Amino acid sequence: MTINSNERRNSLDGEDIVKIARKSIGKFCIEECKAYCCRKGYLILKENQLDLVMQGRKEELDCILKPLKDDTFSMFMGNHNQSCPSLTTSYTCQIHKKRNRPQACKDFPVFLTSNKIILSPRCLAVKGFIHLMCCHQFVSILD
Ligand code: SF4
Ligand code: SF4
Repeated sequence: MTINSNERRNSLDGEDIVKIARKSIGKFCIEECKAYCCRKGYLILKENQLDLVMQGRKEELDCILKPLKDDTFSMFMGNHNQSCPSLTTSYTCQIHKKRNRPQACKDFPVFLTSNKIILSPRCLAVKGFIHLMCCHQFVSILD
């Protein structure tokens, strides 16, 4: 999705903006960040997403799964170099096109609430953006 004119820009709604923001960092995610968010942290899964995300290795990798309430599980990534089982060696997601993939994977690092767009501070692209903004403001102060 591209923005061609002010008219187009003015017609964008929140969903369009978050889609553009997520798409804009795709190359950075793979080539620079190397999918940090799929290698460190926790991912909440519904029971019916376990087989999909775990790539059929649910029993083998039982130690990284912790049952939570409401038929959900917390999957720990980063233990003994264990990334998400759906992450490929070239830092892409094997289930990226599956509709049943976890909502957090669809949304991260840009979340849309009823009246706000929220950026995750855990994301390295967001951190870089904030760093650039701070530098820009600092340079502006010096000008
Ligand atoms: S941490 Fe951010 S930049 Fe890195 S892969 Fe995840 S979404 Fe992309
Ligand atoms: S399912 Fe895909 S996007 Fe989600 S953590 Fe695993 S590799 Fe990353």
